[in-house]
Amino acid sequence: MGNKYEKIVALRREFHRCAETGWLEFETTIKIIKYLMSFGYEVKYGKEIHGERIGLPDNDIIEKHRDTISTDADFDVSEILDGYTGAVAILDTHRDGPVIALRFDIDANGIEESNDKDHRANMEGFASKNPNAMHACGHDGHIALGLAVAEQLAKEKHHLSGKYMLIFQPAEEGVRGAKSIVESGILRDADYLVSGHIGLGAEENEVVCGTIGFLATSKLDIYFEGKPAHAGANPEIGKNALLAASICALNLHTLTQFGSGMSRLNVGILKAGTARNIVPHKAFMEIETRGENEDINRLLLQKVHHVIEGSAKSFDVKYRVVEAGGAPAYNSYPEDFIDGLAEILKKKGMKVTIGKSLGASEDITYMMNEVEKNGGKSVYLMFGTKLAAPHHNNRFDFDESVLSLAYEAYLEIIRSLL
Ligand SMILES: [Zn+2]
Ligand SMILES: [Zn+2]
Repeated sequence: MGNKYEKIVALRREFHRCAETGWLEFETTIKIIKYLMSFGYEVKYGKEIHGERIGLPDNDIIEKHRDTISTDADFDVSEILDGYTGAVAILDTHRDGPVIALRFDIDANGIEESNDKDHRANMEGFASKNPNAMHACGHDGHIALGLAVAEQLAKEKHHLSGKYMLIFQPAEEGVRGAKSIVESGILRDADYLVSGHIGLGAEENEVVCGTIGFLATSKLDIYFEGKPAHAGANPEIGKNALLAASICALNLHTLTQFGSGMSRLNVGILKAGTARNIVPHKAFMEIETRGENEDINRLLLQKVHHVIEGSAKSFDVKYRVVEAGGAPAYNSYPEDFIDGLAEILKKKGMKVTIGKSLGASEDITYMMNEVEKNGGKSVYLMFGTKLAAPHHNNRFDFDESVLSLAYEAYLEIIRSLL
């Protein structure tokens, strides 16, 4: 493993440096494609791997980011630079066998990396070069793993059968990217889908096989629009969007009472108003809902819409709700399949737990549902490791030795599916 391990770590650090958030993974995507091409892959990218994209950043943010990065490539990058990020690598052995899809998410978080001197990325010179973008969830490790697995499969090509599809998915944070990739139809004939995550709920050195407890979730942007007025002279002709949003935020937080299972709601952002002496006519909120199953999340969403409508009505303001992300629940797994995989990993000396709960949301569930709906099977792994700080924290880091554990697990599982 020595040499290979060092290579994976170097890749992880290379991608950590160029952290880019969802739909802005321009440099990241171009780098990934270059590596994949150098391994001899046919690579799909741009519009052909996407359907409808949700939760896109504003155009000026896309343009600004485009200007700050290096986009040198000897292939057409124009669609990538329009936010059709991510890539799918295909390896067809032209021998009978299953279609195996692997998925690695590639986006960073919208958080400024810590500049503490004792944060390892600073000590060892691989901190994010982009402001307000940091790999604080481990997706830099996922990219490195995807590329390392890709290189190895290409090397073993003459001993393999079937077809391999390595999906480098953008915009997992905010659960946005998977839906778009699924809509492209690329997963339709997949017999297996294998994916996973570093850290999360797994204990140190533990491999969780067959993760469950993925919560259904919806992400909404809410816009209230009223009418400005002089706050002293004639406030009565104003329509107050700030008050509508405030009452909305408070009432939304009363909605999560369900006897049938757990639910969550969070108002994460509320911005309103323009000046001290003007009746605020604009307000903006970012909220999310989660539910243990589809029914809970659906019912919660209905209630959310009632509260938004009622709040707007109270202050006679207009409102608009935009879907910014979402993912279905996933709560059970194909038992025989997962048991079989767990046995294989155990034989390799790994500490394996079956069916542990994620207790969060991950848009891989779009892909898992798609593959299972078509008769295929899917598995989601968690690779336990020591974390320097929790996920999404500006001092997040993981013990890089988990990369070799994950790499071995992926390869063992792939080989067992042939
Ligand atoms: Zn995350
Ligand atoms: Zn993540």
